Amino acid sequence: MSREPWPADPADLPRELSDRRGVSQWLAPWFPGLFGEASPRRGGRREAERLLGEIDPQAYGASRNHLAGDVTGLSPYIRHGVLSLAEVRDAVLAEVAPPSGLSEPEPAEGPPIPADTRAHSWERGGSHPFGAESLRRDGAPASAARRPWHGAPRHPGESLIRQLAWRDYWQRLWSAWGEGVHHDREPLKTGHPPGAYANDLPADLATGTTGLACIDAFVAELVGSGWLHNHARLWLASYVVHWRRLRWQLGARWFHAHLLDADGASNSLSWQWVASSFSSKPYFFNRANLERFAGPSFCAACPAAGRGGAGAVGGCPFEASYEELQERLFPGLLATEVPGQGRGMASGAASGKRPSAAVAPGEPSVPQALKARSGPAVLQLATLAQPAVSQPAAPAQPAAPGADQLRAPVLWIHAEALGPANAALRAHPHRPALFVFDPVAADHEPWGLKRLVFIYECLLELPVTIRAGDPVEQLLAFVARCGADGVVTTRAVDLRLQAITARLAERVPVAVLEPDPLVPADLESLAAGTAAASGVGGLPDLRRFSRYWRWAEPRIWGLVRPQEPDGGRGG
Ligand SMILES: Cc1cc2nc3c(=O)[nH]c(=O)nc-3n(C[C@H](O)[C@H](O)[C@H](O)COP(=O)(O)OP(=O)(O)OC[C@H]3O[C@@H](n4cnc5c(N)ncnc54)[C@H](O)[C@@H]3O)c2cc1C
Repeated sequence: MSREPWPADPADLPRELSDRRGVSQWLAPWFPGLFGEASPRRGGRREAERLLGEIDPQAYGASRNHLAGDVTGLSPYIRHGVLSLAEVRDAVLAEVAPPSGLSEPEPAEGPPIPADTRAHSWERGGSHPFGAESLRRDGAPASAARRPWHGAPRHPGESLIRQLAWRDYWQRLWSAWGEGVHHDREPLKTGHPPGAYANDLPADLATGTTGLACIDAFVAELVGSGWLHNHARLWLASYVVHWRRLRWQLGARWFHAHLLDADGASNSLSWQWVASSFSSKPYFFNRANLERFAGPSFCAACPAAGRGGAGAVGGCPFEASYEELQERLFPGLLATEVPGQGRGMASGAASGKRPSAAVAPGEPSVPQALKARSGPAVLQLATLAQPAVSQPAAPAQPAAPGADQLRAPVLWIHAEALGPANAALRAHPHRPALFVFDPVAADHEPWGLKRLVFIYECLLELPVTIRAGDPVEQLLAFVARCGADGVVTTRAVDLRLQAITARLAERVPVAVLEPDPLVPADLESLAAGTAAASGVGGLPDLRRFSRYWRWAEPRIWGLVRPQEPDGGRGG
């Protein structure tokens, strides 16, 4: 990406990094509590593209629940916008030719999906966010038995696309609920009162010295590399919440400090799903489940495994049947259902009833929550903070009224958009751009050196000036330094970034551009001017993933051109 040079300043942070330790030296004055070491995983678009080039959607679908499975490892790059979800989606669709004769998916108006499937598919199969338990006893994906769009064969890339959709779904909930993602969305279904959960991370957990080989290995990987396989996250989170009885928020904060891909939505809502404050039952597992998907090596090396099962002193706490574990972990609940592959619990929990919706009683509905967030300072920006359900896929267009009047803006690059898909960079490829490391944000949610180095490496592959300090003050100084008439940025989901945008907008004209959405725009609604203007018509129902997916899936498959029977070679 070419760019005209703009004046350098001695306070700019270096744009060469010969030694990754340089990052801690440069940023230490702003981040006095900096902890940890750099991750072996490198930041930057080059590495992201290398990984993207290796994806194998079909192998992914067949193996992703196994620790040694063909997962992409793309989450840190997606989290920071080095790759957009739309780019990964397109790579998947390009990688896997649709099956011959793939029919257009039926639109949402098609015959209704049985109510039971809709309400429970998350817990029971194909719509499960984490996949591990979406296997039938014969090992085949449970979703293989169902087809939401009647008559249409499954697309070989569906499994991976669906996981991308989980990220999009969590992001939309974050947009709707804001800080609410960090609070219980529903009562716990464990039979334990909230006060039964402790709020201090025990030293043996923090240091990975519990004596359980699997758990200690997961902790070492979390702390050392900042990335864990999804199944390892599930097991570790479940151990933290259900075996050690610690508050899920404590675990989420711990993960957040270490994960390269951590964000408020995917992290907190996943923890809530494990804890049962955003699902109908707690997630737990047993040794057989762990060995099936992790292989035998942990148990073979584990001292606890040699001492017997969950009932033995010092034995493996996971070695028991699901019924026994249910009795041990949740003695206040009645067992009415034998779990399948690792998730177990009577679906109605103590009350004998399954919660009917993900929105807790008394919480505002999604549209209400969206409306409630438009304060005066963000009035112009508030409409842009809505989920990107009705935005055109490309090209990036100025979305704020008057934004196109900025003739010589600077660009604010933030940590959700560190790639060339950044809408501001695409709209103004020759304008000066600034990224600011924000120590106040680091107070709010600790970022270790792993994350800072990763971001720094991403920045070095972007045409951007790097500073540290208060983002608003730094941006205002940058506007003055470059003789700019305002700031253009890309819409962020993170509330803190939105607050910075709002503060900035009080001082200088700001235009916020929409990132490319995973789910293509509803073009008919856009043309009619209804979806974008009124927020209706093009918006999904977010109460459960299954409902969101019914909205998203046909729109995504709409991008797939059916293959000609002769492979498209016909004349
Ligand atoms: C307790 C817990 C905490 C988690 N915290 C985070 C987090 O902070 N950030 C994060 O990105 N993911 C989080 N996840 C979800 C998931 O574990 C990771 O996205 C995934 O393991 C990343 O590895 P991958 O890139 O190889 O994913 P792949 O399986 O290759 O999937 C491709 C992409 O889809 C998205 N994705 C896949 N699964 C999920 C999911 N269940 N939820 C949301 N997005 C998904 C990710 O962007 C991922 O890169 C968490 C899961 C659990 C159980």
